[in-house]
Amino acid sequence: MRFEQSLREKVPLAPMTTLGIGGPARYFADITDTEALLAGVDWAGARGVPMFVLGGGSNIVVADSGFPGLVLRLCIRGIETKIEGDSAELIAGAGEEWDALVARSVANNWSGWECLSGIPGRVGATPIQNVGAYGQDTSETLVSVEALDLNDKKLVCLSAADCEFGYRTSRFKTRDRDRFVITRVSYRLKVGGAPVIRYPELQRHLGELKTIAPTPADVREAVLAIRRRKAMVIDPSEPDSRSVGSFFVNPTLTHEQFNLVKSQAARFIGSAEEVPSYPAAENMVKLSAAWLIQRAGISRGYVHGNVGTSTKHALAIVNRGGGSAKEVAELKDLIQARVFNAFGILLAPEPVFVGFEP
Ligand SMILES: Cc1cc2nc3c(=O)[nH]c(=O)nc-3n(C[C@H](O)[C@H](O)[C@H](O)COP(=O)(O)OP(=O)(O)OC[C@H]3O[C@@H](n4cnc5c(N)ncnc54)[C@H](O)[C@@H]3O)c2cc1C
Repeated sequence: MRFEQSLREKVPLAPMTTLGIGGPARYFADITDTEALLAGVDWAGARGVPMFVLGGGSNIVVADSGFPGLVLRLCIRGIETKIEGDSAELIAGAGEEWDALVARSVANNWSGWECLSGIPGRVGATPIQNVGAYGQDTSETLVSVEALDLNDKKLVCLSAADCEFGYRTSRFKTRDRDRFVITRVSYRLKVGGAPVIRYPELQRHLGELKTIAPTPADVREAVLAIRRRKAMVIDPSEPDSRSVGSFFVNPTLTHEQFNLVKSQAARFIGSAEEVPSYPAAENMVKLSAAWLIQRAGISRGYVHGNVGTSTKHALAIVNRGGGSAKEVAELKDLIQARVFNAFGILLAPEPVFVGFEP
């Protein structure tokens, strides 16, 4: 559809987000192809209005006042598949639903995404924070990204190396934030490959089920079961899933920084309790943000007005019904302050804040 036909004014954004919070977009359009995208970019440029690119709204917090510019929701569809030997290449439009793609690949017995089951959102956002879960992340299967470079309004093809992926990050979230609009992503999966079962919780779950030689489909089922227990699968009948998933990134520290945290923790907790840690890339140490939050005194089910932490996972901030972005921001600040006071760590929020004052 042409951009001008899709353009609307004062469109409520809350229903387009998983948190269900936030005011309207001053202007809004669904974008179904690259021509419409270019027209939208030109339209905003000519009027000097700010632009925001929306996917499935599962990793954003929209301000109560909404967004004062043009929101372009990426709805570019289409999936192409090429099989060569044991490799399956998938090229998907940015507007395709991520979990539908995962379900389809798992049903074909292609491995590479089984642990990424149950994550909401659309394909175009998967490279932004290098979406990952249960020991797998997008960068392991991503081949390239097609994107509109807003600097010169040209379509570019970026390789996986060009994307500068890291733990829950990429150049799209750091030095080139807001520069690219992703239109298509190409991934490579393994036909008949063994699923990835690195994550201890997943290993335990499959062990309890006594699954011998698990397939990607078995791993998907196990991941979905684990995620449901934590309300990390979107379910309208589960109020704890009205969230953005994990609100904070698990901190990654050097060993020296970790030693400082351990001594501060010993003073704060006043016991010999170990701070749980996991080895991370480049000789770093990863800590559990959920553990830090709980030990800092914010438990599961903590209430702050109409928002709170999930009763099933301290790392998720949920809209308990009628919540506001102001309350979400207040609770975020409170959690950050408590964790900083207890352990000297400033937790980094995972979602993107839209329409807030800088
Ligand atoms: C219950 C729940 C569980 C979750 N579990 C996980 C998890 O296990 N692992 C994980 O990594 N994440 C998880 N998330 C977070 C979220 O689902 C992912 O980050 C997802 O990739 C966001 O996709 P989206 O389409 O909803 O993006 P949106 O929320 O719409 O946008 C997120 C950011 O990406 C940008 N963006 C979106 N599309 C494009 C595009 N085409 N081009 C350029 N920029 C774009 C937006 O501008 C924004 O900055 C979870 C969220 C929820 C609600």
